[in-house]
Amino acid sequence: MPDSAPATDRKGKFQPKGRMTSPQALNRLSALLADEMPLQHDRLIEYLHLVQDKYRHLSAENLSALAYLMKLPQAEIWEVASFYDHFDLVKEGETPPPARTIRICTSLSCMMAGAQTLLSEMQDKTEFSDEVRFVPAPCLGACDNAPAIADGHQMTDASTAEDIIAIANTPAPESRLAGVITFKAYRANGGYQLANTLREAPERKSEMLDMLDKAALRGLGGAGFPTGRKWRIVASQPEPRLMAVNGDEGEPGTFKDRHYLSTDPHRMIEGILVAGHIVGIEKCYIYMRDEYPEIIAMLHEELAAVRASGLADHMEIELRRGAGAYICGEESAMIESIEGKRGLPRHRPPYVAENGLFGRPTLVNNVETLFWIRDILELGADWFNAQGSEAHPGFRTYSVSGRVARPGIVKAPAGSTAEQLIKACGGMAEGHHFKAYLPGGASGGILPASKADIPLDFGGKLAEEGCFVGSHAIVILSQQDNMWQVAHNLLSFFRHESCGQCTPCRTGTDKAVQEMSKSQPDTDRLMLLSQIMADASICGLGQAASNPLISVMKHFPEEVGTEAVTEQQNVGKHDKR
Ligand code: SF4
Repeated sequence: MPDSAPATDRKGKFQPKGRMTSPQALNRLSALLADEMPLQHDRLIEYLHLVQDKYRHLSAENLSALAYLMKLPQAEIWEVASFYDHFDLVKEGETPPPARTIRICTSLSCMMAGAQTLLSEMQDKTEFSDEVRFVPAPCLGACDNAPAIADGHQMTDASTAEDIIAIANTPAPESRLAGVITFKAYRANGGYQLANTLREAPERKSEMLDMLDKAALRGLGGAGFPTGRKWRIVASQPEPRLMAVNGDEGEPGTFKDRHYLSTDPHRMIEGILVAGHIVGIEKCYIYMRDEYPEIIAMLHEELAAVRASGLADHMEIELRRGAGAYICGEESAMIESIEGKRGLPRHRPPYVAENGLFGRPTLVNNVETLFWIRDILELGADWFNAQGSEAHPGFRTYSVSGRVARPGIVKAPAGSTAEQLIKACGGMAEGHHFKAYLPGGASGGILPASKADIPLDFGGKLAEEGCFVGSHAIVILSQQDNMWQVAHNLLSFFRHESCGQCTPCRTGTDKAVQEMSKSQPDTDRLMLLSQIMADASICGLGQAASNPLISVMKHFPEEVGTEAVTEQQNVGKHDKR
């Protein structure tokens, strides 16, 4: 450790350009990161988390010391830290934020439950000004309990101002998951026999890959690519092969991965181990939302038990935390983030199956996709396919929220309709009449109730309507919801979450929100903007962002511009542009 900083170039020591590094900050960070030495570039986001967790913000002084210790330019540290909403950057002369942050989700289902009003009410309260701050947050993955409110990143049961005040006046609780099926319990119930079979009889790999090919399992993060085919493609690539599990469930309306992880996490872990055997994976990174801290803590414990059992001897598994960026749910952006960079989607080709993490062939699977591997390989492809119909084989997990009596997870045959899902959720909520629905989260479009008999599956009739099912997040709307406000909320979300890399999306989402905020929006201009974004954006965010807007102009033209829409507060405080 140098006794004074900075080290000088003349002595051949590294000194990042820019702000001088103080010896005190170097000592602080060296102590904080002692267990992480030697520091790795790709773990930059993990180090930023450790600093943020400890000091509740990232000061210029600490970032300078981190740059020094990592031998990276300060600009690189700042560009990464400033990209993610969960990092609070404090420049010189600025006042650090209060130590406690209460997040109120303002995404669609929560907005419908009054989140925006609740947020304003809390922000107007003066009694907490120095100790607690109340900020808007994008989807917290708890749309079944709207409005979703998190203390730090820990979900609470609060739903009213009184509840929040009670929480803010008590110490933050330790986050723990109750009722999760542990390693011991999972194994006692037949778990990990499949992984063990593959370990002891590797010759069965091709038989199992054939079975997976035959099963109608598709990427359930939203893309719907056939899983067996994907595994085969990656297995055919040169070694070493890597894997990334996409646990960054950020699509508004989606909470199925949270459900599976917080009840039966070892099914996903066994899916990873099986992929490791069949595809020949050297190392797997699990990229988990920072919004799920109790799940991250639980996974650390359960993964340790799996490693100790020897079941994971054929591969390394590392758990990584996201940092509050919706775009990191896009697979190439997630890969950039795992590499310790800003989450900017890559141009394709090459596809990540050939050239993914650290330039290696990479298998990317969603949490739920891996969850079903064990059942399919134990019970057979025919069993899985028979859960649906010939036209829509297999079953799906629908996250249903909004104006239904009992929002929640519905496991149902693939191709279920909105009508059937509403029924499964106990019908409409009292006082609400079915008016419209989102068939696939924020970007999947909006359909009127008259089209509630369309099978909700990849492609097919839904695609003919210009919509898609994505991660199967179904939000039910009623006569109390103004469609223009709904579309405005969704476009505002995309404006904030645009990574800013390409102009059509960065500028298009901004101009669309501005136009929609006018009392007499120009629909021709909005259509033109939508077309440009769809045609010229790099990734799915920009390409699909205007879907809800187009849907409302098509199915609810009478509601265009009908409700004065005020600019909503940006979710999070960083502008990625
Ligand atoms: Fe980034 Fe949007 Fe372009 Fe995707 S479409 S790369 S999110 S700016």
